[in-house]
Amino acid sequence: MDLTFTSDQQAFRKEARAWLEANVPAEPLASFDSKEGFEQHREWETKLHAGGWAMVPWPKEYGGRGADLLEWLIFEEEYYRVGAPGRVNQNGIFLLGPTIMEYGTDEQKARFLPKMASSEEVWAQGWSEPNAGSDMANIQATAILDGDEYVINGQKTWASRGAYAHWLFGMFRTDPDSKRHHGLTFILCPLDAPGITVRPIDKLNGKPAFAEVFFDNARVKAEHRLGPVGEGWGVAMATAGFERGLMLRSPARFQHTAAKLKALYVETVAQGVFVDPSMRDAVARCWMDAEAYALNTYQTVSRLLSGGKIGAEASLNKIFWSELDIRMHELALDLLGERGELLPSAPAAKGVGDWLEGYIFALAGPIYAGTNEVQRNIIAERILGLPRK
Ligand SMILES: Cc1cc2nc3c(=O)[nH]c(=O)nc-3n(C[C@H](O)[C@H](O)[C@H](O)COP(=O)(O)OP(=O)(O)OC[C@H]3O[C@@H](n4cnc5c(N)ncnc54)[C@H](O)[C@@H]3O)c2cc1C
Repeated sequence: MDLTFTSDQQAFRKEARAWLEANVPAEPLASFDSKEGFEQHREWETKLHAGGWAMVPWPKEYGGRGADLLEWLIFEEEYYRVGAPGRVNQNGIFLLGPTIMEYGTDEQKARFLPKMASSEEVWAQGWSEPNAGSDMANIQATAILDGDEYVINGQKTWASRGAYAHWLFGMFRTDPDSKRHHGLTFILCPLDAPGITVRPIDKLNGKPAFAEVFFDNARVKAEHRLGPVGEGWGVAMATAGFERGLMLRSPARFQHTAAKLKALYVETVAQGVFVDPSMRDAVARCWMDAEAYALNTYQTVSRLLSGGKIGAEASLNKIFWSELDIRMHELALDLLGERGELLPSAPAAKGVGDWLEGYIFALAGPIYAGTNEVQRNIIAERILGLPRK
C-alpha cells in the first residue's frame, strides 16, 4: 500500500486547513447536550455546509463535496488538528446517511440527505429499548401497516441527541408474530408526529444527553421505510458497520488525543514533577496505537475504494479505539495528579484542560455502538469461527 499523498490530496489538505483555520469558532461552543449548545452546533454545521465541508465524501447533489473517503480521512485530520466543534448530527451524517446511500430510493436520497448535510434536520438513533440493548433482536416496538401509514407503538431509549433532534431512525416489528431478527423493518420517524412523546434523560452533569421516545399509535408514512419490509436487521447491520468500523470515530480523534497526551507528558516533566518512567512508555504506547489505528483505517478505506465492504472486523476496531481512549484519558489524569479532578472553571485549573470530562465520556466507549463484550462474541464467532455458546 502506498502511503504517499498525491499532489491533489496535498492540495485538498491545504484547502481544508485554510478554510478551517479561517472559520472555526475562536471560543468553544456550549455542549451540544444543552439546548443552547445544540443550536450553536447547528449554526456551525450550516457554516460547514455553506463552505462545502459538511460531508466531504458525499455527492455534491446531496450536499457533499464529491471527494472520496481518503480525502475524508485527511479532512478529519485537519478538523481535529484545529479543535473544531463536535458533529451534532453524527447519527445522521456518519451512520444513517451512508445507509440511505446504500438502501434508500432516489426519492429518499433527495428528501433526506441534503437536509441532513446542512443539519436543518438532526437525527437520533432509536435502536435500544428497555429490554433490547445488547440483545437488539428482542425489539418489541411494533409498526403495523394501515393504508399508506405505519401505526407505531412501543418505546425506544438512550437516543443520543434525542432531546432536541428532529427525526429518529429505528427498527420496529412489522410482523407481530415474528421472532428475533426476523420481521423487523427500518423506519424513519419525524419526532414531531402526533403520538410521539420525547422525554429527555439527564446525564449526571444535568444535561439531557439522551431521550426516551414513546410511540402511542403514532402514524408515520409508509414511504419512510428504508429497505425491504421485514429485512430491517440487514439494513441496521450496515449502519452498525459504519458506526463501529469507520465513520463514527475516525482515527484523527485519537491521534489528536495522543498528541495532547504527549504534550501533557512533556510539560509535566518540564515542570520538574516526578513522573514514573513506566508512564513514558505508556504514553509512547498510546501514541503508537493511535498511529496504528490510523494506518489500519487507511488500509480499510483503500479496500472500500476498491469495492470491498466493512465486515465483522468493524468489531475489532470498536474495541481497539474505545479501550485506547480510556487508556489515554486515565494516563492524562495520572499525569495531572490531584489537579486532574478540577473542573475547567476552578481557579487552580489552568492547564488541566478537558481531560476529566473526556475521561467520563471515554468510559462510555465500551458501551455505546454495541458493548465490547458483544463485539468479542462477534469476533469469536465470525472471525475466529469459535462455536456459539
Ligand atoms: C453514551 C451512550 C450513547 C448511546 N446512544 C444511543 C443511541 O443514540 N441510540 C440507541 O439506540 N442506544 C444508545 N445507547 C445505548 C447502548 O446502545 C446500549 O446501552 C448498549 O447497547 C447496551 O445495552 P443495555 O444498556 O441495555 O445493556 P445490556 O444489554 O443489558 O447489557 C448489560 C451488560 O451485559 C453484557 N452482555 C449483554 N449481553 C451479553 C452477551 N450476549 N454476552 C456477553 N455479555 C453480554 C453487556 O456487555 C453489558 O456489560 C447509548 C449508550 C451510551 C452509553
